[in-house]
Amino acid sequence: MSVWAILVAAGRGERLGLDQPKAFAKLGEDPLLAEPLRRLEESEWVDAIVIVSPPGWEEPAILLAEELGCGKVSACVPGGATRADSVRAGLAEVPADAVVVLVHDAARPLLPDEVIERVLAPLSEGWDGVVPGLPVADTLKRVDGDGAVAETVSRDGLWAVQTPQAFPAGVLRAAAADGRDGTDCASLVEARGGRVKVVQGDPRLLKVTTADDLAKIASWL
Ligand code: C5P
Repeated sequence: MSVWAILVAAGRGERLGLDQPKAFAKLGEDPLLAEPLRRLEESEWVDAIVIVSPPGWEEPAILLAEELGCGKVSACVPGGATRADSVRAGLAEVPADAVVVLVHDAARPLLPDEVIERVLAPLSEGWDGVVPGLPVADTLKRVDGDGAVAETVSRDGLWAVQTPQAFPAGVLRAAAADGRDGTDCASLVEARGGRVKVVQGDPRLLKVTTADDLAKIASWL
């Protein structure tokens, strides 16, 4: 089975308030991108990697991959305006004979290998996608623009979904070709009737949005 990983790293990360894109924010000594790249490279489940870099940052991304000795990196392409566009750009570099595509947010640098294993395993049961998630623990409220609570939403059956997300390559290609947008890949597959399974995620897969997230993840390294 050939498993291709698409590492989407093209987000601007405006909420970090830095001069460079989020993928090149410092996490410890290295750019944030180094951590998920190294982990995908070292995973025995992953055969090849496509990096989707911030537009104009392909060269630094390739240099970083070379410095890290990432021999599985097959291509590095510029991302698009939305996450879904960036996934489409990455998919264009995945060869026709790829069996499984694993899409991971570079903004979730601490990728545990056991989560990769958990999302790949159920694909053999015929699922159209497998995603990691955590049951929502907090009470959920919808809040108006002025800060007033509009309603309390039941958290029954609600999961916060993470990446890496795994798909049979043909399923993700067909879903991406629909041209929809979405905050994750599974929503594109769901939109055309695909059956997606949720497996246990990991709190370490926290997504870097703010400087506090970056500091927290750095302390977990
Ligand atoms: O912005 P958001 O938190 O949804 O980003 C999730 C992941 O998608 C990040 O790793 C980010 O770099 C990537 N992304 C992308 N292209 C975009 C927007 C986000 O590759 N246009």
